[in-house]
Amino acid sequence: MIEDTIAAIGTALGQSGIAIVRVSGPKSLDVIDEHLKTPRNTSIYDLDKNTINYGHFYSKSGEVIDEVLVSVFKAPYSYTGEDVIEVNCHGGQIPIKKILTTILDSEIRLAEPGEFTKRAFLNGKLDLSQAEAVMDLISAKTDLSHNVANKQAAGQVSHEINIVRDKLLEVLANIEATIDYPDEFFDDISVDKMVEKLQNVKESINKLLKTASTGKLVREGIKTVIIGEPNVGKSSLLNALTKEDRAIVTDVPGTTRDVLQENINVRGVPLVILDTAGIRETKDKVEKIGVERTKEYINTSDLVLYVLDGSQNWTKENELILNLIKNKPRIVIVNKSDLSSKMDKKDIKNKVDCKVLSVSAEKRLGIETLEETILNLFEIGDINDNTFDVTISNLRHELALKEALKHINESINGLKHQNPVDIVSIDIREAWQYLGKITGDSLSRNLIDEIFSRFCLGK
Ligand code: GDP
Ligand code: ZN
Repeated sequence: MIEDTIAAIGTALGQSGIAIVRVSGPKSLDVIDEHLKTPRNTSIYDLDKNTINYGHFYSKSGEVIDEVLVSVFKAPYSYTGEDVIEVNCHGGQIPIKKILTTILDSEIRLAEPGEFTKRAFLNGKLDLSQAEAVMDLISAKTDLSHNVANKQAAGQVSHEINIVRDKLLEVLANIEATIDYPDEFFDDISVDKMVEKLQNVKESINKLLKTASTGKLVREGIKTVIIGEPNVGKSSLLNALTKEDRAIVTDVPGTTRDVLQENINVRGVPLVILDTAGIRETKDKVEKIGVERTKEYINTSDLVLYVLDGSQNWTKENELILNLIKNKPRIVIVNKSDLSSKMDKKDIKNKVDCKVLSVSAEKRLGIETLEETILNLFEIGDINDNTFDVTISNLRHELALKEALKHINESINGLKHQNPVDIVSIDIREAWQYLGKITGDSLSRNLIDEIFSRFCLGK
């Protein structure tokens, strides 16, 4: 049982119309009762549950801190399942901090990141995959990633996992019966039936796993790096893709000194895109750091866009760079298609085994084709919301599914080779446990703490 009361600012700190301080736990009502004065002087205990109440928030010494609206949620009808109070005050740094400090002075402690959601989980309001989806909802950068998170928060993944776990329990029950009454239950027919059920489970898990690669890209974005020599038009290409003039475009070679990062939205899929300093050995120290980093970014990216200036001649250096990226998903982009061309696209195509596209970053030509090519490269050309009925987008879930699958395969093999059923049941139990890690049913307290610690403050 959780005994202490926690509080935190639930909104981003800055200047805004309103801000919210959240309090959860047994002392929530007490502390607000002490500091809130409503026009009719009603005690908070006399207010109905789930109401919003107007009043003034007072400091310990009796000064008004702010005019507020206080939402009262009485346990168990709240996000965390505990008594919860939300104080809506003006969104300036001073009122919000003063209100929080006043609350924290009453033996209430500052919440850890994700602690409200952790309490919701521990009190059975959400399972773990739903809680994780809540964080994804907050960090979603495109409509599509938002939709996927929304469905997961509503419990779609959990639902699917629970069905599969129930099937495993049925098989386990079968096995128990076989052990207790070997003569009646242990025959070829019952083994066949068990294998069939396990095959069924295997199919369900495989189906979920199939959604994982797209799911992960939709949740985390495609890490993309734009490389190429100085002045070929990397920054211009980034601008064309973002449809904003944010990267610095100049005609002096080597001006993109550091790396610029943008989140862009390609038909629902987020691209986390980096514009790098030109790859070229250079005497300029600042740029040299950039070059080293570019090599690092290539290694950690999902996709490399290699930009060439089509109005220049093909050089040996181009081959070197192509060699550097030959193991990466990549697209060669011949830029400045609006100028007379010195590079022959066919010629380049013979040298590389990846897509070669002509674009003009400045005139915004060929950009749509580039977007399509990117999505096709990751086999997400024709996604729409329906594709995402149940999607695995979280790496933790994917790994648990893969482990479960391994044990299911073991158990099927075991049954087929007539291994003792009590040995086979160990694998089935393991699979059941791994699946339970997704919903949080079979996860140690330490791991649960670790997962929630990655959440943001006040959620
Ligand atoms: P970076 O150093 O690779 O980032 O190159 P920039 O994006 O800064 O562009 C270098 C120069 O090339 C600038 O003067 C741009 O205006 C010009 N440029 C970029 N894209 C095009 C294009 O498609 N056509 C033409 N004609 N000029 C371009
Ligand atoms: Zn640049």
